[in-house]
Amino acid sequence: MIDLKNLTVKKAHTAFIKNEYSALDLSEAYLKNIEAKNKELNVYLEVFDDVREQAKEADKKIKAGKAEMLTGIPLAIKDNILIQGRRVGAASKILDGYVAPYDATAIKKLKDAGAVFLGRTNMDEFAMGGSTENSAYGVTKNPNDTSRVSGGSSGGSAAAVAADMALAALGSDTGGSVRQPASFCGVVGFKPTYGTVSRSGLIAFGSSLDCIGPITKTVEDAEIVFDCIRGEDSLDSTSVELPKTNSKHPTKELKIGVPRGFVEADGIDSEVLKNFNESLEGLKKTGAKIVDVDVPSLQYALACYYIIAPAEASANLARFDGVKYGPRLSGENGIGDYFKTRALFGPEVRRRIILGTYVLSAGYYDAYYGKALAARSAICADFARSFEKVDIIAVPTSPTHAWKIGEKSDPLSVYLADIFTVTANIVGIPAISVPSGKTKSGLPLGLQLIAPVGYDQKLFDVCKSIF
Ligand code: GLN
Repeated sequence: MIDLKNLTVKKAHTAFIKNEYSALDLSEAYLKNIEAKNKELNVYLEVFDDVREQAKEADKKIKAGKAEMLTGIPLAIKDNILIQGRRVGAASKILDGYVAPYDATAIKKLKDAGAVFLGRTNMDEFAMGGSTENSAYGVTKNPNDTSRVSGGSSGGSAAAVAADMALAALGSDTGGSVRQPASFCGVVGFKPTYGTVSRSGLIAFGSSLDCIGPITKTVEDAEIVFDCIRGEDSLDSTSVELPKTNSKHPTKELKIGVPRGFVEADGIDSEVLKNFNESLEGLKKTGAKIVDVDVPSLQYALACYYIIAPAEASANLARFDGVKYGPRLSGENGIGDYFKTRALFGPEVRRRIILGTYVLSAGYYDAYYGKALAARSAICADFARSFEKVDIIAVPTSPTHAWKIGEKSDPLSVYLADIFTVTANIVGIPAISVPSGKTKSGLPLGLQLIAPVGYDQKLFDVCKSIF
């Protein structure tokens, strides 16, 4: 029996090299777990039928002495990342039956490394939401408490890792969708600097915010996956090559900034705040210096995000017209087909499209979208100023722990839960959520560390030296 609970990418890699078990054995172990748990948790929308073949290919590579760190590692992939020849649907009815015509660049890199794809994971439709309750295919339950959500939008990927239904996973993060479900499920979620991972083959939500990121059990595993998928890509003009700066930061000199006023504002759960303060005490003990930072424009981040993200989404989702992708429903005429097909979008996606087209409309552009862009610049400037004084900024990942399924019926209350995550996307900076303990009732909580543009490696180094 392979001990999946304590397995990491590195441990599995070592086991392959030492011939303790094969990639096929490992994939079998995960398939068995998926078989046992998926019905209850609803993590995977589809488990691929060629997992064993993929694993056998990986075993050939391992036998030939050509194993890379991710060769034979079983991964879960969010349902908005394209794998050639496989269905992909962003958990939406409007893409029902759609088959990806090419590989996302991140997938291509993982394939080159010999990784094994177990299946595609559930998510909020088009990555809009924070609980997978907006999926057209039902909610993903939290493995820690099945009466609760797994977070979102990459809730399937986070639950897969937490429930040992994959060793690592890919998610996408537009406003927190890798970090928040990671914190709800008790695993690590990393959102890279904008552009360091190509967006080619990621179904677009908010193009200036979207990032593919890893969800893993350890910080080291997140680093391994990120190192594989990152890099400049001719298929994404916003992609950048990040030097793998070796920023070994002795924690003695590390200065961590805390925007106190922002963190302690109304709406944060008392257990979350207590856990956050305890985490800071823990950081202090490792020699880090904790200082207050004032980031006045932070109060506008959520409003700014909920204008920019829907605006970009409304433009990106215009392509789903019943002609180019997925099913086409018949109405009375061509326009009728269009309306009928677009009614396949779920309520949250429609809400965002309406909001987005409104803020971009001629009469309101300056009042909303223009203002949001101005706020975005102010937030970026404030962060740049703060990072002159501190190395890293710390905030909780989410103001609450995982909520009960069906508990939040008001969409605004779900939007408010993104208060601590959206900023990193607005500014384009890297951020990581690491498990920071549990509530009294045993629900996981996360601590979020945020670094300046391009300092992704620093986040890994700092986390590895602390946790
Ligand atoms: N919860 C946020 C939203 O609904 C973030 C989603 C995401 O990062 N994809 O927009």
